[in-house]
Amino acid sequence: MGRQVIVAELPKCDFCSSKAAYDGKTRFGTWANMCEYHFVQHGIGLGTGKGQRLVLDEKQKTLTRRGGD
Ligand SMILES: [Zn+2]
Repeated sequence: MGRQVIVAELPKCDFCSSKAAYDGKTRFGTWANMCEYHFVQHGIGLGTGKGQRLVLDEKQKTLTRRGGD
C-alpha cells in the first residue's frame, strides 16, 4: 500500500548491525529489514510488493515509554 510505514522502534538490518531504514523485497526474492546501505545493495525499490521505508515515530516512542506495568 504505502511507501512508508511508521514504527515505534526501528528493527535491525538483516545484513549488518545497523538499524534498518527499509522493509522490503531483496534481489534474492526474500523480504528483509535493511539499512540505507543494504537497501541500495539488495533492495529492488519502493512500492507495493517491493518495499517500504521505515519511519521512526518519536511521538509514539515517548507515549509507549511507561515505567513498569
Ligand atoms: Zn545493513
